[in-house]
Amino acid sequence: MLNRLSKIAGAAALCLGGGATMALAAPCLEVVLTGVQGGPPVFMGQAGAGTLVRYGSEDNNCSDVVLQFDTGRGTTQQLSKLGVPAGKVSAVFFSHIHSDHSEGLPDLMQLRWHFGSAGPKVDMVCSDDVTTPKGYTMSCRAFGENIGAALIASGEMAQRLAENPKRLPGGPSDLLNIMTFSGTDAPQTVWEKGDVTVSAVKSRHVAGHASYRVDTPAGSVVIGGDAGNDTPAPPRDNSTSAQVEALAQGADIVVHSVIHPIMGPDGMSGFPPPIYFRQSTATDLGGLAMRAGVKHLMLTHHIPPLGAAKQGPYTVKEGGLTADDYIGAVRESGYEGDVVIGPDLTRLKLVAQ
Ligand SMILES: [Zn+2]
Repeated sequence: MLNRLSKIAGAAALCLGGGATMALAAPCLEVVLTGVQGGPPVFMGQAGAGTLVRYGSEDNNCSDVVLQFDTGRGTTQQLSKLGVPAGKVSAVFFSHIHSDHSEGLPDLMQLRWHFGSAGPKVDMVCSDDVTTPKGYTMSCRAFGENIGAALIASGEMAQRLAENPKRLPGGPSDLLNIMTFSGTDAPQTVWEKGDVTVSAVKSRHVAGHASYRVDTPAGSVVIGGDAGNDTPAPPRDNSTSAQVEALAQGADIVVHSVIHPIMGPDGMSGFPPPIYFRQSTATDLGGLAMRAGVKHLMLTHHIPPLGAAKQGPYTVKEGGLTADDYIGAVRESGYEGDVVIGPDLTRLKLVAQ
C-alpha cells in the first residue's frame, strides 16, 4: 500500500464526468498515544496506557471511525485535548483487564451516559472469560457489566435517574455493546466498519491478553499491548510475541509496550524478574519490527517513564532514562526504521496517496 507520513493536510483531485473537477480529501489514518505510563505507578501526570486510532479523510481530521485501544487513567481528558468527545468513540478494545489499561473506561462511559444516554452504544471488544489453572477468572465482560456498580451502590444513579428519567436505567454499562472473542494464535477479524478491519491474536502477558491490528486504505497499525513471549522466562530467543510478530508482517506502524533492559535482573533495580520477563524489551521490539518489515515503531507504556528515577518503588538511576536511552536500546537490534517514543499525545498520521 502506498501512503505517506504527513502532518500537513493534502488533497487529491478527482475528475468527474462532464469535465468538472472536485477536490477530494485523501483517506488518512492517525495514531495517537493517549497515555504512555507503564503499569500502575503515577509519574508527572502521565496518562495511563491507551492508543487512539482514527480513520477518515483529511477534511474531517481522520474521524469517520474512532477507535480507542485500552483506556488507562486519564483517557477521557486526553481525548478532550484532541477534540474527541466521549460520544464520538466508535469502539474500545482491551488488551487485558489490568487496571492500568482499563480504569479510564468508567470515567469515559459515565460521561457518555450523563449526556448521551440516547446512544449510540459503544462496542467494547475483548477476549472471552479465561479461567487460569490457579482457579481465578479474568473477565473483560464482567468488568464492562460492572463499571457503574459503585455509582449504583452509592445512590448516585437513582438520584440522577430521578432528575432525568430518559437516562438508561442500568447506568453506563447499558451503553456498552460487549463483544468478546476466543483468543487464537492466528489472526481473526473481530470488528469491522466500512473500510476499517480490526483483527486480533492471543498473546501472552496475563490470561486473556490480546493484540490487535487495524487495516485501512491509508495504512495499518498493530497494537501489541503488554504482549510478551510465550516462553515466560529465559532461555528463549527473545522477549517478544511470535503471534504479534506474525500479525505485524508488513504493517506500517507497531505500537507496543516497552521495558528497558535496565529493569532486568542484571540492572540492580530490584524489579521483580517475572514482571520484567512478561514484557517486551526495547531491543527485542526492534528485532520484531525489523523482521516484520515495520516502518514505524511507537513505544508506549514505558517502564520506566522517561526521566523517572523510580518505577514505583524500584530504583532506575539518578535522572532516569532519556528517549535516547530507549532508542539506543532499540538500535542494538539493528532496526533502522523510525522509532517514536512518547510523551503523551505523540501522533503519527498516514495519508493515502
Ligand atoms: Zn500494563
